[in-house]
Amino acid sequence: MNLILLGPPGAGKGTQAKRLEQSQGVAQVSTGDMLRAEVAAGTQIGNRAKAIMESGELVPDDLIVSMLSVRVRAADCARGFILDGFPRTVPQAEALDSMLASMGITLDAVIELRVNDAALVDRIAGRFTCAKCGTGYHDSFHPTKLDGVCDVCQSHDFVRRADDRRETVAARLQAYHSQTAPILPHYRALSRLHSVNGMADIDTVTADIQAVLARLQTRQSITAN
Ligand code: ADP
Ligand code: ADP
Ligand code: ZN
Repeated sequence: MNLILLGPPGAGKGTQAKRLEQSQGVAQVSTGDMLRAEVAAGTQIGNRAKAIMESGELVPDDLIVSMLSVRVRAADCARGFILDGFPRTVPQAEALDSMLASMGITLDAVIELRVNDAALVDRIAGRFTCAKCGTGYHDSFHPTKLDGVCDVCQSHDFVRRADDRRETVAARLQAYHSQTAPILPHYRALSRLHSVNGMADIDTVTADIQAVLARLQTRQSITAN
């Protein structure tokens, strides 16, 4: 199963991708996480991307596409992948099409998480992550069960992203509407696009995505017979 999770910043892509990784046994590929790792390691890519990310703009397509083309060829992607945060521009979507065609891979579905801008600001402002295992939380919508302790690995260390500030959110939403939303018609035309109400609570969104995938698997097995 090869999927794209598409949606504005804070829509719940990372949260749902982690759950799909477990339920579908496929690899989460987050270009945001990959870039943050490059920044933390102080690599050439990281140094180029850091200021752009903090301003809420998109890093150049060539840099992202070359990073991603290496990543989807890694062993853990052989059973399938969920792209989280890629593609984000029309040229990235076109580059992905030719990359997958050259690898003989088909894209099963593009799942769009629809969330209003007002809700996104609150989601982004309250987001934090376990520094050790990467589990995502939210101050109000998904707090840790025990105050200051990760539910999954019991670590006490949490991080907030440098770009998760109310001042930067407007620029990120603007980038989504002007540069990323234009790729939706591309996947709609290919009959790959499935939209899910991302305003629902986390478990309901997961159930709605599972329902889309179940319908898809039924359809694929009918076609195969
Ligand atoms: P994205 O990867 O799309 O930027 P995240 O998965 O990191 O989004 O979610 C953004 C924030 O909102 C996180 O703090 C997460 O815990 C929270 N969140 C995710 N999905 C929902 C939801 N359906 N309802 C409320 N909060 C959510
Ligand atoms: P979010 O979870 O809020 O949607 P990400 O973690 O996916 O954000 O991305 C954080 C930042 O990294 C983006 O604002 C952008 O600067 C950069 N970035 C991530 N993925 C891409 C991409 N595919 N193309 C261009 N820039 C990207
Ligand atoms: Zn943890």
